[in-house]
Amino acid sequence: PRGDIHADVVVLGAGPGGYTAAFRAADLGKKVVLIERYPTLGGVCLNVGCIPSKALLHIAKVITDAEETARQGIGFAKPGIELDKLRDWKESVVGKLTKGLTGLAKQRKVTVVQGKGKFTSANMIQVETKGGVKTVSFEHCIIAAGSSAARIPGFPYDDPRLMDSTGALKLEDIPKRMLIIGGGIIGLEMATVYDALGSRISVVELMDQLIPGADADLIRPLHKRIQKRYEAIYLKTKVTGIEAHENGLRITFESVSDTPAPEPQVYDRILLAVGRRPNGGDIGAGNAGVIVNGRGFIPVDKQLRSNVPHIYAIGDIVGEPMLAHKASHEGKLAAEIIAGHKAAFDARAIPSVAYTDPEIAWMGLTETEAGKQGLEYEKAVFPWAASGRALAMARDEGMTKLLLDKKTRRVLGAGMVGVNAGELIAETVLGLEMGADMEDIGLTIHPHPTLSETIFFAAEIAEGLITDLY
Ligand code: FAD
Repeated sequence: PRGDIHADVVVLGAGPGGYTAAFRAADLGKKVVLIERYPTLGGVCLNVGCIPSKALLHIAKVITDAEETARQGIGFAKPGIELDKLRDWKESVVGKLTKGLTGLAKQRKVTVVQGKGKFTSANMIQVETKGGVKTVSFEHCIIAAGSSAARIPGFPYDDPRLMDSTGALKLEDIPKRMLIIGGGIIGLEMATVYDALGSRISVVELMDQLIPGADADLIRPLHKRIQKRYEAIYLKTKVTGIEAHENGLRITFESVSDTPAPEPQVYDRILLAVGRRPNGGDIGAGNAGVIVNGRGFIPVDKQLRSNVPHIYAIGDIVGEPMLAHKASHEGKLAAEIIAGHKAAFDARAIPSVAYTDPEIAWMGLTETEAGKQGLEYEKAVFPWAASGRALAMARDEGMTKLLLDKKTRRVLGAGMVGVNAGELIAETVLGLEMGADMEDIGLTIHPHPTLSETIFFAAEIAEGLITDLY
């Protein structure tokens, strides 16, 4: 049966995965319908994720840089913070991008249907729009419904002082004392913002290091820096309860190591950032026969196909890493595969970046993984204390690490910590994809003096060409 609208390709969810898929499918000549429950396109990333957080992190960096130039003899007054203006600016950045997407959808004649979509069969989605229910029938579907902030049961979620990342990005005020539950990327990025604006920050993390997915040596410079700035960092510690009181939220902790847990504390605000869970439970997948696993992910093959061959899934809803650039890459592929191209997901590395200060970035093999898999690798580390540019920026705590195959000398992985590490990591991803070896990197002329040279120097160290760093 035909729906109110019929599409060659219907895309459910308009985040970076969904809009990329929709636009690519339209460019390849398909009639595309894009279903999104929220009034703006762009999903979590544009509206309440990557973009607003980076706008605020930019401001945080300006503030802390200004504080620190006192060491070089340049002092500034305390920043005057106009929160309304700051929020408006952040919203204007988001608005420019989401409006841009609406324009791009129009140009490509992608039909956007606003409302919550649910499968009613393997060829039909029903959308609850403002004007009533609309049905969309389709030849192919791409599920790109994304993820939401995970919750720990039993906490007082109706208290606005307990926030998730979306609440924290609203920046309603600057709390005096704030606890971040979860020392992962999202928690630490928001900690960076609120710390710069003047909050006293504590972080509590269950594992034995911050950002547990990254190698410990990359985390150390960040940990050292924020330990000086923040009130406390509790590792191997669990929050067991949050009680709402008039004067704040009272937190109880439990230790998962030999170190005793901190005493109960009262905070003005709590940010719960303990990961994201896929939105697979709420789209009527069962009506289409699409399998959703116990964690809410939709299992897919290398061509992003679910167990139902004409229904694809991409982005956060198919699994880790939950990152925008992975979602958009998969979106493009799914559209091309539907259009008959011979393509499959074959990326050798998906870079990860924590936009903290300093930034941490890594890609490909990590040392932790190499150890677990018993892989033989070599590593070359260039400390930024020997980089002219890092010294000239008064930020020499960073380092660049390359992991390489012992025999072929090819790049297996890379990790960096330092200012702009997130920008620098891209070169190593290209190196890995192109099968570059240490000599290739060493023969590539890098501009001087830049932080990008640290990659070149690390390659030279690997080749035994630099032995006398200090
Ligand atoms: P989403 O962006 O989650 O989009 C899914 C869309 O589907 C949503 O718009 C949702 O409303 C819609 N939807 C869901 N169900 C339905 C339904 N039934 N009907 C209609 N519409 C529906 N990643 C990075 O790579 N870099 C970063 O710097 C970064 N920063 C982040 C900061 C924060 C605070 C957060 C929370 C996340 C961040 N991420 C970052 C992660 C990134 O936002 C996600 O990986 C990315 O948005 C995933 O894209 P997606 O297309 O899979 O899904």
